[in-house]
Amino acid sequence: MTAAVTIEKFTSLTPSEFFYRNKEIAGFSNPSRALYQTVRELVENALDATDAHGILPVIKVSIKRDGGHEKDNIFSVTVEDNGIGIPPNHIPSAFGQLLYSSKYILRQTRGMFGLGAKMAVLYGQVTTGKPVEVISAPINSRKIYYFKLRIDIKNNKPIILEKAQYSKTNDWHGTIVKVYLEGDWSRSKSKIYEYLRRTAVIAPYAELVFSDPEGNIVYFERSTNKMPPPPREVKPHPYGVDLEMMKMMLQLTTAETLLDFLVKEFQCVGEITARKILAQAGLPTDANPHKLTMEDVEKLIRTIKKFKDIKPPRANHLSYLGEEIIETGLKAILRPEFVAAVTRKPSVYEGHAFIVEVGLAYGGGIKASDRPQLLRYANKIPLLYDEGSDVSFKIVNEEIDWNYYGISFPAPLVVLVHICSTKIPYKGVGKESIADVPEIEREIIAAIREVARKLKMYLSKKRKEMEEAEKAVTIAKYIPEVAQALAKIVDNVKPEDLESRLLALLNQKLKAFKIRSVDEVVVGIE
Ligand code: ADP
Ligand code: MG
Repeated sequence: MTAAVTIEKFTSLTPSEFFYRNKEIAGFSNPSRALYQTVRELVENALDATDAHGILPVIKVSIKRDGGHEKDNIFSVTVEDNGIGIPPNHIPSAFGQLLYSSKYILRQTRGMFGLGAKMAVLYGQVTTGKPVEVISAPINSRKIYYFKLRIDIKNNKPIILEKAQYSKTNDWHGTIVKVYLEGDWSRSKSKIYEYLRRTAVIAPYAELVFSDPEGNIVYFERSTNKMPPPPREVKPHPYGVDLEMMKMMLQLTTAETLLDFLVKEFQCVGEITARKILAQAGLPTDANPHKLTMEDVEKLIRTIKKFKDIKPPRANHLSYLGEEIIETGLKAILRPEFVAAVTRKPSVYEGHAFIVEVGLAYGGGIKASDRPQLLRYANKIPLLYDEGSDVSFKIVNEEIDWNYYGISFPAPLVVLVHICSTKIPYKGVGKESIADVPEIEREIIAAIREVARKLKMYLSKKRKEMEEAEKAVTIAKYIPEVAQALAKIVDNVKPEDLESRLLALLNQKLKAFKIRSVDEVVVGIE
């Protein structure tokens, strides 16, 4: 018997065709998720365009039902920022060509895949047929530019439908992006609100206004003018470079010798280190970097991986929040009775520097829950989905013994975990959860322990104060009687005077505790 042989036909896809077919990979799986993801991607771009450039963000987000449409699940999402704007020659590709980005450099930003804005445009286009509208005024330009465009999905190219430019009459700079898409407001409402709330926690220096399709307007006020230091671009660290990247770097370098190449293109490599590496690899220092054989490149990589004397990557290019901003944000949004934050020293995984920060908030406006409420962030982006598969979730629920810190659940406890790095080990391009890299895990655990110890001290002090207060209340009950008795044996005092003096003494003690006065307690008891 002969098997029926069919000939397979091979083709390739452009990035836009690929992501059109696999929208869920980037978080656009259904109308509810797409509405949330659109807000998120546009807000992240807005924040990258402001705080990463030292501008205090003012961001306006608006979701409206598109009444002009026959279906009632079509929305417009508009996000306006006061950022650096986009040069007009880049606007079409920035919004109409997948994998086009200004962030493909080693710098800590929220964006990193060159996908976000385009996925919103693409999803909008295929669900409503409508193009994206972009208005942008670059920071040092005298003009405002307007574009209406769509994506040519087959060829991954922008199609410009309309464009215009206007003279600027004031010094406004920034960007306004408006997309139309099929969405599900009722299902995404709570996630969108939660996303904005968490953004407000981690960016208390931003002013955020949100107007929702029901006509509600929510305003997250700026609660500090202090901003994190802007991130800076860095050269790669030798430990973080693999074979392909090394080949690319060798091709692109302007260095004329291998020695020069190592010193110029990498961080933490000085001439002495470079000479040692090359000697160990058996490569001449004056070899032409463009003419290295495959074998030589492999040798170089192997030697670097074995070479233990390179200093760890620097972290001064990272933009962490700092303890003060975290505490301000937690206080402003959660109104807790206790907060503490810690920013750990930089650490390294696979040649990438990272910093872990943790904030704890307890009591006050926080509702009790059966497990710690986790606020996860990566490069200042709130992560809301896939909580169960995130490294922090595992740590908070399995590794930390909260009992040891005086907390038994249900308890009003919020744990904020922020990781910043030029390379976050996300589990997918939807950027929703972080992989359990051992180095990162260790840092998170250490950071949580550090703040949890502060909470433990606070709680045990509070417990002691409560005990003393209870004692004071008991004593207070006897004061009138004691005062009467004392007045009988001591000359020239009235029992009322004695009574009020004794109460004042107790009150003084309790005031230091910041709790109710004895009078109130006594009244409360009677
Ligand atoms: P990514 O953010 O990963 O780079 P996006 O598709 O979200 O990818 O954005 C593409 C590029 O468009 C960005 O790299 C940025 O240069 C530019 N851009 C998008 N939105 C804005 C904005 N609001 N302000 C300034 N530049 C923006
Ligand atoms: Mg982006």
